[in-house]
Amino acid sequence: MGQVKYIFVTGGVTSSLGKGIISASLGKLLKARGLSVTIQKFDPYINIDPGTLNPYEHGECYVTEDGAETDLDLGHYERFLAANTSQKNNVTTGRIYNNVITKEREGEYLGKTVQVIPHITDEIKRNFLALGHNGDYDVIITEIGGSVGDIESLPFIEAMRQTRWDLGHENCIVIHLTLIPYLKAVGELKTKPTQHSVKKLLESGIQPDILVCRSERAINMEIKKKLALFCNVPINSVISSIDAKTIYDVPLLMQKEKLDERVLELFKMSVNKAPGLEQWKDFLTRLKNPKQEVNIALVGKYVELHDAYKSIAESFIHAGAKNECKVNISWISSEEVTNENAEELLGHQNGILIAPGFGERGFEGKIIAAKYAREKNVPFFGICLGLQVAVIEFGRNVLGIKHAHSTEMDPICKDPIIDLMEEQKKITKKGGTMRLGAYPCKLKKGTAVQSLYDSEEITERHRHRYEFNNDYLEQFENKGMIAAGINPDSNLVEIMELKNHPWFVGTQFHPELKSRVVDPHPLFIGFINAAIDHMAKN
Ligand code: GLN
Repeated sequence: MGQVKYIFVTGGVTSSLGKGIISASLGKLLKARGLSVTIQKFDPYINIDPGTLNPYEHGECYVTEDGAETDLDLGHYERFLAANTSQKNNVTTGRIYNNVITKEREGEYLGKTVQVIPHITDEIKRNFLALGHNGDYDVIITEIGGSVGDIESLPFIEAMRQTRWDLGHENCIVIHLTLIPYLKAVGELKTKPTQHSVKKLLESGIQPDILVCRSERAINMEIKKKLALFCNVPINSVISSIDAKTIYDVPLLMQKEKLDERVLELFKMSVNKAPGLEQWKDFLTRLKNPKQEVNIALVGKYVELHDAYKSIAESFIHAGAKNECKVNISWISSEEVTNENAEELLGHQNGILIAPGFGERGFEGKIIAAKYAREKNVPFFGICLGLQVAVIEFGRNVLGIKHAHSTEMDPICKDPIIDLMEEQKKITKKGGTMRLGAYPCKLKKGTAVQSLYDSEEITERHRHRYEFNNDYLEQFENKGMIAAGINPDSNLVEIMELKNHPWFVGTQFHPELKSRVVDPHPLFIGFINAAIDHMAKN
């Protein structure tokens, strides 16, 4: 493999323009042309990783195979590229400083004053290039979190400038994503904020190579010319990114605007024929032409912010499209579910999913929702805390274990059906100390999950501290709640499945982290199929 090519993606004017989706879409297009691509994100905050953040801050924490707790954009990268990322793909300011301070204590800079430039910027540069050393990739896309002009992203911007200087223009380009707002009162798209944002980049010594312009209306030639002139880029480097119906339209929109061609030209790489993207288009056709609809309740604690459950929502889109079925999600706050309103909230649902989560708030509402699903034969999917809820409910209401609980909610409970693992008991630090990343799981023959996976052993990703307490397993299995998946090394229960129910599955792991656009997760497919059957019957 030759020289690795680097693409930086920065954002201007406002946050939330979708740098992650543009990066993932460009990655998808380049990969479809036969290049090997990965995407990484550099976040300017000081937490070492987002694992300690409340989901209300930045949405879901996405977990990689190697157990890194990362930004949710890595989920988009994996779903679009159908490839795994790792700890190296998400770096924060906190991690950079932590590395530098550790080296300082080890004496690596002995005699020197340790400074932002060059020590912090050198450490950032080292991390920018880290994935490029093994010859695994032709192209590495780096998304810089935050917006240009933020005080906290300055060291990243400076390190990016230096990296481009080091590698040369032919090997390193900068794409700037901005907003072209539409002013209703005058009926015009406005370019001024973009001009200012590019000036801000120029102050830091960076002339962007390509502008990707988000807008709610199409950007005409006149506006493209104006942007090209004032922002100092050729006109074919002004790319229009009009608001899309679904994020999955964006790769095709970017292909139409020739973003990938422009990138390859700048890199002086041969431009093969544009790829057909047949599988992707097939997915979009199914997504946009559903033959039926199902209603799914997503019961959770953080439902006000849908990004807190990003991967679950996307998994429903993938699995729904596979079944040519539109999935309508009702976001139900678990705190609001009571015995009195359960019928009203859940009576019209074709499936109930209990989401992952932490802490006591809303726990009893989840118990009521799990009970409703079990008793009324509504397809049920419990993920992580959702599995724990399902077994506690079963313990209390079927096995008659009155004090069944999790020691997370009640540390001195008499019947700790969910309890800390032995090795977790000694841990006092919070960051990066859960059971994280991919673990193997052996599936029991003859169970619904085994036939869905069509495999005997799988691996899935985890993020939790508490586990099913095997002292109770026999009682559960005697009454039809079966350990359908077991970790072959530790014997921990990873999947519970209820017999004599249309579809009742709880997983200790997070299947939503492995669903891909062109390869939806088997458990989500199974759950949607069960919901379709439920709808047909009712
Ligand atoms: N709070 C639970 C635990 O730590 C579940 C975590 C989760 O749902 N991700 O085990």
